[in-house]
Amino acid sequence: MIEGVSLSNIRNRYEIKVIDKMKQILPQYPDFDGCSLCIEDVYSLSLSRMPAVYTHRGSVILHRTLTEKDIEEVVHYAIMKVMMQPKHG
Ligand SMILES: [Zn+2]
Repeated sequence: MIEGVSLSNIRNRYEIKVIDKMKQILPQYPDFDGCSLCIEDVYSLSLSRMPAVYTHRGSVILHRTLTEKDIEEVVHYAIMKVMMQPKHG
C-alpha cells in the first residue's frame, strides 16, 4: 500500500525494461556467474535505483522519464556491484 492506493492495479513499468536490458547486457560480463541469486540481485538492485513509475487505472505517473541509456547504465552498475559483492560469497 502506498498512501492508501492498492498496488494491485499498479505495475512498475520498468520491470519489463530491466529484464530486457539484463538479457542484452549480461552476456557482456563473462565473469558474471549467472546464478539465480545474483540475477535476482541485479534485478532488484536495478529497480531500486530507478524512480518509481506506476500505471494506475490507465494513467501514467511519471516522476522522471528515464531514457534507454539511463536504464542501461543502471543495469551495468547493478551487475558490477553484484559481481564485486555476491551475496553467496
Ligand atoms: Zn551467484
